[in-house]
Amino acid sequence: MSRVAIYPGSFDPVTRGHMDLVQRACRLFDRLIVAVSTNPSKKHTFSVDARIRMIEESARHLPQVEVDTFSGLLASYLKRKKVRVVIRGLRVVSDLDYEFQMASMNRRLCPDMETVFLMPDEQYTYLASSMVKEVARMGAPPDAFVTAPVARLLRRTFRARK
Ligand code: ADP
Repeated sequence: MSRVAIYPGSFDPVTRGHMDLVQRACRLFDRLIVAVSTNPSKKHTFSVDARIRMIEESARHLPQVEVDTFSGLLASYLKRKKVRVVIRGLRVVSDLDYEFQMASMNRRLCPDMETVFLMPDEQYTYLASSMVKEVARMGAPPDAFVTAPVARLLRRTFRARK
């Protein structure tokens, strides 16, 4: 039986920290579905299509990665996909509060699921999509924080807004 996991998130945009987790998950699972959340109550900088494209382009070298979208409850999406394992990241202790709450609620809604927490390489523990956008908006090069296709889109987006 092949082992499949889902890595859900906003990925607005995907960072090298997210990609570090994707690589780690690929070593543990046969297939990884990176699921971009399209929750309309959350305001995103990039469209769903752009967020998907950035992940696809960043994961070209990883054939076991598939990119998908979901809206609504993660628990319902898991049931629909018949997948039981969710990957989430823990960077620092402050992530734990939110992640613990979410994993507990998801388990309540879907009792046979498991959330697997992975830690990124320590060079990425400070990386967050919001921080990367802030840096790019201020005109600093984002290349250390995101893959080349994402850096190009960030430059284009924030240059156009000036
Ligand atoms: P969400 O809005 O669902 O939190 P994010 O894209 O911000 O979406 O994060 C998705 C997941 O990736 C979360 O579990 C988050 O902790 C993790 N994550 C975000 N940035 C990093 C990073 N630099 N290193 C490792 N994990 C990260």
